Amino acid sequence: MAKKVSYKQLGLVNTRKMFAKAVKGGYAIPAFNFNTMEQMQAIVQAAVETKSPVIMQVSKGARKYANPTILRYMAQGAVEYAKELGCKKPQIVLHLDHGDSFETCKSCIDSGFSSVMIDGSSLPFKDNIKLTKKVVAYAHKHDVTVEAELGVLAGVEDEVAAEESHYTKPEEVIEFATKTGCDSLAISIGTSHGAYKFKPEQCTRDPKTGKLVPPPLAFDVLKAVEKKLPGFPIVLHGSSSVPQEHVDTINKFGGKLPDAVGIPEEQLRKAAKSAVCKINIDSDSRLAMTAAIRKHFAENPGHFDPRQYLSPAREAMKQLYIHKIVKVLGSNNKI
Ligand SMILES: [Zn+2]
Repeated sequence: MAKKVSYKQLGLVNTRKMFAKAVKGGYAIPAFNFNTMEQMQAIVQAAVETKSPVIMQVSKGARKYANPTILRYMAQGAVEYAKELGCKKPQIVLHLDHGDSFETCKSCIDSGFSSVMIDGSSLPFKDNIKLTKKVVAYAHKHDVTVEAELGVLAGVEDEVAAEESHYTKPEEVIEFATKTGCDSLAISIGTSHGAYKFKPEQCTRDPKTGKLVPPPLAFDVLKAVEKKLPGFPIVLHGSSSVPQEHVDTINKFGGKLPDAVGIPEEQLRKAAKSAVCKINIDSDSRLAMTAAIRKHFAENPGHFDPRQYLSPAREAMKQLYIHKIVKVLGSNNKI
């Protein structure tokens, strides 16, 4: 592990001011997961071109895949790359997604992360408070911001998996936020991890297209939370939309993703206008990358240089990120 370093030395920022502005302005900050150089480049290019703040987030799976030290230097590289692309003051957060212990959060804070999530949502309420409070105390000493979670999301994302979702209980949020001192709160209102967010039996089917129509998000729960904690930054996980064009391309060129279904973008746009100020998107970028690679191989069977198929994959991800920023989250032109 690299020696102890503050994110401030790396040119990163925490989420505090960013979220305050987003809540006031009625938009949300994109939180894109990254594991590879191509994803990192696409995220930075999209953020610079649209003048958007951005959260680059690292899951436990990413730390295992790419190595925590490498990811940290990639985030440092992202800041320098953004400057090279013409952004004078990049607003880039390096965030730990689904931190599962105090030790993981501490190790990230010590190695240059500007924001961490401690996910105690599977613990009993009191234990979640205790663990979150401990992380907040260490993080705030280093001016690092903390996201906590109340309520359980269904679905599978790296090593985070739950069979059933439990909506956040609005009556718990004041006590939780006050006792823990967390800076933002991930809540469960029906979003879900992965590319199969809903089982066919939870959905209806469009009689014309035969495609699944997912159940709507629980905006009543979101409203009740907002009423309890006015202006407090709320986070939505599992908010990929699973674009049908990418799923169709994957299936057309040899893939097999039947009935993959996500959260409709108009619902996310509605959420972004509320106190929801961070929206997590991971699966959509995976789908865009895979669709571009499958198509490229089908059309160019002789290619074997990774640059040949990773270039269109990177471009597809960049276009996806730009679309999310401008058409869904509304975080463009905010720097
Ligand atoms: Zn998540």
